[in-house]
Amino acid sequence: MKEYSIDTKCIQSGYTPGNGEPRQIPIIQSTTFKYDTSEEMGKLFDLEASGYFYSRLQNPTCDNVAARICDLEGGTAAMLTSSGQAANLFAIFNIASCGDHVIASSGIYGGTFNLFNVTMRKMGIDFTFVSPDCTDEELEKAIKPNTKAIFGETIANPALMIFDIERVANFAHAHGVPLIIDNTFATPVNCRPIEWGADIVTHSTTKYMDGHASCVGGCIVDSGKFDWNKYADKFPGLTTPDDSYHGITYTERFGLEGAFITKATAQLMRDFGSSQSPFSAYLLNLGLESLPLRMKKHCENAQKVAEFLNTNDKIEWVNYCSLPGNKYFDLAKKYLPNGSCGVVSFGVKGGRAAAEKFMKNLKLASIETHVADSKTCCLHPASATHRQMTDEELISCGISADLIRFSCGLESADDIIDDIKQALEA
Ligand SMILES: *Cc1c(COP(=O)(O)O)cnc(C)c1O
Repeated sequence: MKEYSIDTKCIQSGYTPGNGEPRQIPIIQSTTFKYDTSEEMGKLFDLEASGYFYSRLQNPTCDNVAARICDLEGGTAAMLTSSGQAANLFAIFNIASCGDHVIASSGIYGGTFNLFNVTMRKMGIDFTFVSPDCTDEELEKAIKPNTKAIFGETIANPALMIFDIERVANFAHAHGVPLIIDNTFATPVNCRPIEWGADIVTHSTTKYMDGHASCVGGCIVDSGKFDWNKYADKFPGLTTPDDSYHGITYTERFGLEGAFITKATAQLMRDFGSSQSPFSAYLLNLGLESLPLRMKKHCENAQKVAEFLNTNDKIEWVNYCSLPGNKYFDLAKKYLPNGSCGVVSFGVKGGRAAAEKFMKNLKLASIETHVADSKTCCLHPASATHRQMTDEELISCGISADLIRFSCGLESADDIIDDIKQALEA
């Protein structure tokens, strides 16, 4: 059978009701599930049978929505998490622990940077941050015998650098480590990192996938392609018996296609409990159904806003990857041929002070730490999300002191541009 297009998958994947069953994915708002005998329940605890017993680990609503995202990304298994932060924590911690090392792009989202650079260092995991534009030679210098993964974002938030997924995946595989890609800004509608060689894909579903600023959430998708057994010494958590599950070996029992997500669910969800609520998963799913339509409009609006800014003499610079002359134009053409995202960054002439004044004068666009939903919003990272950083640290993650992150919503492009115009003139 011919594979459905992404537009169809956003509506149909992950849930097929049987005769007389609910058409929409039902909300199974139950913490727990009932069994007739202790033997039956025991089998679930030993991972000998599959089924639900407690929603901290798995819930049918969440699983249906995860299955939909899994299909969108072209993976073999997926799980929802309570937030994008939990997704990235679990994706790394599932394969790296105390004494291990991870290479990450320095251009990543500020929250992920703190998670890695502060909190996960306290867990004993060492990180080397490299420029998202770094060469293979620079990666060669960064990689160590205890490196367990390389991590980057398809489109970096907020500096909007485009990650060369295919090249870095080839490098990672030549060194026996998986590539983990946070695909939040592109969404699977605009880029599917697994098709370019990424092994694990993560999302903050809080952004475009939910799309209506209603629920914080995350997702991890496994491609099922990374051969953990080939590098068994490096990934003992997947390839040797887990004493907390009666000595089962995840790769043996669940194959390459299921080992990573089963371990993350059975161990990390069990112990850290960062599960998504079924109600949040239901709302996320409503967002997924209109994702292709919305991404198209977000990208159209951003393109128009970027083109307007590009020709305005009060603007110092504009960064949007599909503007001709943009540093990432060619990479964007390769990885994001149908559009990138609705976020544009730019600097107003007059630097930091001018940025703050401009934002105060906006009427339609609101000032929010959030991005990537139906309402146009903006943020000055240097005075908000990144205010703890020095100007030098800001530069190293691709953020200048005057950078305004402008997230184009789904309103009329003319209204968004008129708002920018009046704020620049004020
Ligand atoms: C927002 C964001 C996160 C964190 O997600 P939360 O859902 O806020 O926890 C991670 N990565 C990227 C690229 C993001 O934009």
